[in-house]
Amino acid sequence: MSSDENPFENLQEQIDDAASYLPSSVNTDVLTRLKNPERVLETNLTVDMDDGGLETFTAYRSQFNGDRGPYKGGIRYHPGVTRDEVKALSGWMVYKCAVVDIPYGGGKGGIVVDPSEYSADELERLTRSFATELRPLIGEDRDIPAPDVNTGQREMNWIKSTYETLENTTAPGVITGKSIENGGSEGRVEATGRSVMLAAREVFDYLGKDIEDATVAVQGYGNAGSIAARLLADLGATVVAVSDSSGGIHDADGLDPRAVKEFKTETGTVSDYEGADAITNEDLLTLDVDLLVPAALENAIDGDLATDVRADAIVEAANGPLTPDADDVLQERDVTVVPDILANAGGVTVSYFEWVQNRQRFSWSEERVNDELETVIVDAFDDLVDAKESLDLPSFRVAAYVVGIRRVVDAYTGNGNWP
Ligand code: GLU
Repeated sequence: MSSDENPFENLQEQIDDAASYLPSSVNTDVLTRLKNPERVLETNLTVDMDDGGLETFTAYRSQFNGDRGPYKGGIRYHPGVTRDEVKALSGWMVYKCAVVDIPYGGGKGGIVVDPSEYSADELERLTRSFATELRPLIGEDRDIPAPDVNTGQREMNWIKSTYETLENTTAPGVITGKSIENGGSEGRVEATGRSVMLAAREVFDYLGKDIEDATVAVQGYGNAGSIAARLLADLGATVVAVSDSSGGIHDADGLDPRAVKEFKTETGTVSDYEGADAITNEDLLTLDVDLLVPAALENAIDGDLATDVRADAIVEAANGPLTPDADDVLQERDVTVVPDILANAGGVTVSYFEWVQNRQRFSWSEERVNDELETVIVDAFDDLVDAKESLDLPSFRVAAYVVGIRRVVDAYTGNGNWP
């Protein structure tokens, strides 16, 4: 994180910002419920290391709100994971699932670990240990984890296998983001980047601009960033800069996102990619481009940096990449921001499709997954435009929270407050 702001406080500020546009039935007590997790598991996992020693890792799972359905959200492996970060990420999942109107609440988990420092065997033991601690809390109808930063099909397969073995059952819908052979869905790996591309296409259309003519900079070249870059280039946009935690590259004539991805897979980083100029992450975030896609971690752009941003539009692929101060500055400067809880919602939407397929023991084609995803994202974008225009809201972020909070409150009110 480039800023030491607390992401949980940022989430609460975003909800407060939307609150003044909500009906008066959303009173202070309801707002308190909307701003705080229902429960948080904190656990210490003592794991056998390859050298015969032991190591203890702290891990969390936050179940933020279950009014609309089972808790849903990923598990990240990162040395910077904190309890407050996991709480914030779980809250963003609640409103993300509500914005795209899929029948889930929100949750998130994380382990404080740098996975690059451990062997695959050590990571398997760590993951199975966490899955054992999670077992009483998760389930196909209870809480459904998924991949997030530094986790993917391999970790999801381990969690599914541990859960099913301990429960003496088959329950592929307990987790999403699995490999295809283990019950995963076509299109899930691409889904986050695909929704970023769709959100960008829709917002450019709304602004009366052509995405085909756009120049694009992408900060972060993991799953979301690299796939968003590729799909935007496939639409005809020119990706002029990309970066990762080691630095960035720039080519005004346009980079080939597939070739850059291959280079990163070989060397571990996009830096030193032939034919491009080296730039810093900060240079990238302040490039004069039509579209900026922050696709790394929280707080990439704070209020100070926001004054130097020269992009016309920002589509958030990461969760929480803009601080509330940055949002204020960008709004003032007329930079259109499509918030994370819509733009990167493709991941959880195709997780939902995976879960539906698992429950039905019936697989969809990739074409069907992509078509249904497009419908969900375009409809959700239209809902935000409707809310923004009919209620005269200041930004798409406020519109997203107004739409999302209303859906959560309606479910909560319909369920009744019991016990
Ligand atoms: N980790 C992803 C997110 O932040 C996906 C969550 C899911 O598929 O449940 O949205």
